[in-house]
Amino acid sequence: MYLIIRCENCATFSYIDRFQKWKLCPVCGETMQRGSVQEYIEVENHHEADAVIVELERYLHQNNRENLTAEETGKLRAVYARLVARSTSW
Ligand SMILES: [Zn+2]
Repeated sequence: MYLIIRCENCATFSYIDRFQKWKLCPVCGETMQRGSVQEYIEVENHHEADAVIVELERYLHQNNRENLTAEETGKLRAVYARLVARSTSW
């Protein structure tokens, strides 16, 4: 499982293994520390993490927004949970 996080310095979305405590930002090199950076959503694997990040960036860009509200983060989690349920139930 991976967590989608965001660099506090340059606002780049990234992801981190749920057992990792920190990760360096691939863009600016800032340390992204669990508990200090915002955690958006937990996903199954890094392919899904990449896909969610693309969607997040597209959504924010389209709406000319800096960040998600707590409500939008909640919606994102609900949508993702439905997608996972669909792909794993035969
Ligand atoms: Zn950064």
